[in-house]
Amino acid sequence: MAKAHLLGYPRIGAKRELKFALESFWRKESSSDDLQKTAKSLRTNHWQKQQNAGLAYITSNDFSLYDHVLDHTLLFGGQPKRFAKLPFGEKSISPENAYFSLARGNLEQPAMEMTKWLDTNYHYIVPELNSDTQFSLNAQDFLSQLDEAQKLAKNVKPVLLGPVSFLYLSKARDINKLDLLDSLTQQYVYLLQELHAKKVEWVQIDEPIFALDLDDAWLKAFERAYAWFRTSRPKLLLTTYFANVSRYQGFIATLPVDGIHLDLVRAPEQLGPWVNAIPSYWVLSVGVVDGRNIWRTDLDKALALLEPWVQRLDERLWLAPSCSLLHTPVTLEHEVKLDAEIKAWLAFGDEKLVELNIIAMALNHGVDSVANELSISRAAVASRNHSARVHHADVKARISALDIVNENRESPFSVRKITQRARLNLPLLPTTTIGSFPQTPDVRASRAAFKKGEISQTKYDADMESHITYAIREQEDLGLDVLVHGEAERNDMVEYFGEKLAGYVFTQNGWVQSYGSRCVKPPVIYGDVYRPQPMTVETASFAQSLSTRPVKGMLTGPITMLQWSFVRDDQPREATALQLALAIRDEVDDLQKAGIAIIQIDEPALREGLPLQSAAWVNYLAWAVRAFKLSASVAKDDTQIHTHMCYAEFNDILPAIAAMDADVITIETSRSAMELLDGFGKFSYPNDIGPGVYDIHSPRVPTIEAMEKMMKRAFEVIPAERLWINPDCGLKTRGWEETKLALQNMVNVAKKLREKLA
Ligand code: GLN
Ligand code: ZN
Repeated sequence: MAKAHLLGYPRIGAKRELKFALESFWRKESSSDDLQKTAKSLRTNHWQKQQNAGLAYITSNDFSLYDHVLDHTLLFGGQPKRFAKLPFGEKSISPENAYFSLARGNLEQPAMEMTKWLDTNYHYIVPELNSDTQFSLNAQDFLSQLDEAQKLAKNVKPVLLGPVSFLYLSKARDINKLDLLDSLTQQYVYLLQELHAKKVEWVQIDEPIFALDLDDAWLKAFERAYAWFRTSRPKLLLTTYFANVSRYQGFIATLPVDGIHLDLVRAPEQLGPWVNAIPSYWVLSVGVVDGRNIWRTDLDKALALLEPWVQRLDERLWLAPSCSLLHTPVTLEHEVKLDAEIKAWLAFGDEKLVELNIIAMALNHGVDSVANELSISRAAVASRNHSARVHHADVKARISALDIVNENRESPFSVRKITQRARLNLPLLPTTTIGSFPQTPDVRASRAAFKKGEISQTKYDADMESHITYAIREQEDLGLDVLVHGEAERNDMVEYFGEKLAGYVFTQNGWVQSYGSRCVKPPVIYGDVYRPQPMTVETASFAQSLSTRPVKGMLTGPITMLQWSFVRDDQPREATALQLALAIRDEVDDLQKAGIAIIQIDEPALREGLPLQSAAWVNYLAWAVRAFKLSASVAKDDTQIHTHMCYAEFNDILPAIAAMDADVITIETSRSAMELLDGFGKFSYPNDIGPGVYDIHSPRVPTIEAMEKMMKRAFEVIPAERLWINPDCGLKTRGWEETKLALQNMVNVAKKLREKLA
């Protein structure tokens, strides 16, 4: 009998109940009791859903008020000593307030750092380890959530992030992380003993870092840590996900655990070899339902994959989603506006539970026991495979007709630079901004009213034109050299284009937690992407008509469109990226035909698309660069292409960034005081660069001196003739007042430096 279980359930709530409870608590509009009540009712609801779906185990301790890694930091007593003043547990301040201080900072201490969870868009709070870190188990909250679950269900399986991944994903300041391994693992042993005493049969222990390139020191760390677990304890299910982990097979099979979970959505080919490699008493949990995407599972395909191994594994076969459902929306139930045909192709969290149950029934009681369910699934798969809404012959034909000639600009950069200089006539150190200007309450209200149908298209267009006019006037007054229209019409840089492209669909409640109370609602790419009509030409032309200075056309690049959407699983990501690239290419061409001389194609998400395993980087970077070039290369020599990237480590992908061959790249560099630029210098980055001279996250107005200092550092690595001056990123979260002051200073820095250089 195969058993079904989950690695984790989304915690934000079908209607983002947790988000709203958190934010109201932070605004002091509700009490800590209110918050805990919401949290408890969410947990209960999640467990009931798992019971109702007939899962063999109910997963507990996957919930968190903010972030599960932060919870582990507290569980093992690893909170940084710089927060020691916080009265954890004292009456004057609720324990929640102390907890949120770590995540969000307080008047005295900045928040702990946050970073992306592997290759997802979920951000975790990075454990901050120092030589004074002293782990000590503080399991009260953990155990009380376990109790809660055990009251409700028999087979409760708590989840833990494993000690080695915890350390690996942490940041150590004045110490070697691995020196903390023993003291940390000891706390795990204490916890496992407590769980044993509570009659927990299985503990799920996540070690996601098996998806990464691990060196010997880290493999040794696994050996050493897990040796601690040769004690009396619950059985351990070691979970891996997001990659093929076969290269560690021989090693993992010697660890003292009782089973392994594999991601068979990302890497179905690893199943057979693993069945043969594991000890005969291990369970094998197979992740056959996609925990990262929103498509209905092809149940026949999943069953066929498992078929050869079912008898042999028997009781030891567990069924699961590929990873925690944290990365999918909760339920399709409230998607009342979604097109019925497309909706039938989708499965969110709750629908995935049902799928698991169907697979378990088919394996345990024969396919006839779920004949009806299987035929519905089959029909949905067939309809998606053949739908004329998904497949457009002309899009596919255009892709297959692509020639390398389409990918390159007419002339090399050195030639283009001369042509563009003649057309644009810009001064040395041209000043510009990254695209968005303050999204004032006015701007938002107008967009919201239009969306709700409260104002007419004419009124909306007039509103937008007045915001654009204001932005252009201000920039002219400030004396900026290259202007932007300000992006008032865009709520989000991906959604805006998604809504105008064929092949995209939008959900009402398809929210996924990004961090804390922050959620994103990625659009869904369901079909071949193309651009039915121009998307930004009217706006760009209007903005340009207001000024004699160049106003940049502003587009989102193909890789960022891809990264920040739910993508098709019926074709490689590369194929979707190329389709997006062609759609953007069409827009670039129309913009230049309309007389727009500078076009910016933003690619802030290029870096985050990098595969977890470095062996796969070359291939990814090749098609990502190709997609960008395809979108840009239609530009004539005298059309200047800009790109923009931010908040990532670029130094290890500089050759790829250079290969994109944008005429100008603007990057965020002020946070690292231009350190990021050093890499561009060392690599001899060939084209123009605009290093960000000020941080856009704070309302603080940067001083002339500070920005001048930044530029002087920039001169050390890049010749002045190739430098631009701009902020780190878009200004949409700022107010106008501080923005004007900041940009005024920035323009003055440019003037001062030009005089000096002349
Ligand atoms: N053009 C966008 C803006 O200015 C870029 C945003 C980003 O880099 N994420 O808002
Ligand atoms: Zn940016």
